[in-house]
Amino acid sequence: MSEKKEHIIDLFNVSRVYDETVAVDDISLYVRKGEFVTILGPSGCGKTTTLRMIAGFEIPTSGQILLNGQDITSIPPHKRPVNTVFQRYALFPHLNVFDNIAFGLKLKKIPVTYRKPDGTEFTREEHYTKKEIAQKVARVLKLVDLEQFEKRSVTTLSGGQQQRVAIARAIVNEPEILLLDEPLGALDLKMRKEMQLELKEMHKKLGITFIYVTHDQEEALTMSDTIVIMKDGTIQQIGSPTDIYNEPKNAFVADFIGESNIFSGVMTDSLAVRFAGATWDCVDDFPRGEQVDVVVRPEDVYMVDPEKGRISGTVISSIFKGVHYEMTILSGKNEIVIQDTQEKKVGERIGIIVRPEDIHIMKKEFVNNSYNGYITKRNTVCFGEGEFECDVTQLIAGSKLDEDGYLVDGEGRKYDLTDVKVVVSVGLKDIEIIDNETDGQSAGQIVSIIYKGDHYQVIIRTPEEEEDFVVDTEYTWNENDRVSVSIKPEHIRMRLAEEVKPL
Ligand code: ADP
Ligand code: MG
Repeated sequence: MSEKKEHIIDLFNVSRVYDETVAVDDISLYVRKGEFVTILGPSGCGKTTTLRMIAGFEIPTSGQILLNGQDITSIPPHKRPVNTVFQRYALFPHLNVFDNIAFGLKLKKIPVTYRKPDGTEFTREEHYTKKEIAQKVARVLKLVDLEQFEKRSVTTLSGGQQQRVAIARAIVNEPEILLLDEPLGALDLKMRKEMQLELKEMHKKLGITFIYVTHDQEEALTMSDTIVIMKDGTIQQIGSPTDIYNEPKNAFVADFIGESNIFSGVMTDSLAVRFAGATWDCVDDFPRGEQVDVVVRPEDVYMVDPEKGRISGTVISSIFKGVHYEMTILSGKNEIVIQDTQEKKVGERIGIIVRPEDIHIMKKEFVNNSYNGYITKRNTVCFGEGEFECDVTQLIAGSKLDEDGYLVDGEGRKYDLTDVKVVVSVGLKDIEIIDNETDGQSAGQIVSIIYKGDHYQVIIRTPEEEEDFVVDTEYTWNENDRVSVSIKPEHIRMRLAEEVKPL
């Protein structure tokens, strides 16, 4: 997109709340006329809800949607120049291809203007003629490459062909905007790749705006002019595929787009960052002591002789990926993925270097400490290389512990939580630092102390897994001190990271 084009769609501070769930949380974005925009994000992040609000099937709880500058927030779907293709395309099985596509057209009434002999004009609503319908259907069948299929029953078509009929049915109405909600989700990989290229081609030929929804990053990178990345109902980044790939705004985007090595790091100087057991020069300027996420693409990691690397490690896996090898290196406790045309065998020791400009640094926004953990058979929780007392009844609403240590919910169903995965969240003020390594429930080394005006923010990093405890404290500590941490059970908040079934 070189020249500036006008916006066809604007979303201003749009939210959609269902009961307790905030499906879409205050998003703003625009789509230019003729653009191919993809909304990309993991399942449940609010993509479909966003699309349905643009289509008019769903009304925002708050915010505004504009079409060509006009407010359409509460205009019904059939009054919007928009058509949608869904993943589960509902074709009529008893109708042939022609009739499936013509179905909507036959019902539609369009205003036709006549001029009377006295020169006055009048307008009335009429159906399309048979000939008009036939011409329109023929035109779209050509576009989706199904010219010879008019008379075929849709049930005899392959998945890919059926999806093309669904697309034809949507574009036969000549919408200004085509909305596509994971339209290729039901197809196999090969068919999906073909359809991606065909859709891109169709977009070019039709010249209309496409808003496409997918959870597949490769699909988004291949097809889009612009990608909108969503997570938990919010927008993480908007940009061209290259922008998003090269300059991810945060660790979530980096991880979601392509292969990445992501490390938790600390700035040791304005242009130096410590991660993966070494200090590296970098080109991003952040204050000393700042907690950061560091992203390094696998193709930007170079292998050298072990003694010449900034760090060294052992190859623990190597897979040939057609053009390059993808190798995983274990260095200390860190795994680093490398792509290289040259293969190193499993077990070989290598050195690793990364150019300063290939080290991407992103500021970490710290509200809470968050960990992946699991429940033990003692109903304690393990995370951050420690075992902590906790209240497991918060994991299942209305539950209590029985005398055998099983959780029982309000309806008397019993649960065994042993080894169940949980996400643990602990406030920055809720961690106590203890001056020796053995009295707390986990231990580590102080890797950073930042003075925050009225308190210090201290980061304690565990030795094995390099998990961080970020602690707000009024006491002073010294960098490199070995300490332990203690957290009271009531300060450990948890939610289930997997489904648990009653016994
Ligand atoms: P995506 O398409 O990205 O997978 P959705 O937009 O379908 O996500 O859903 C976003 C969130 O909103 C999810 O947590 C989902 O469970 C919730 N949600 C969606 N539709 C409804 C609904 N009709 N009622 C209640 N919750 C809903
Ligand atoms: Mg969806």
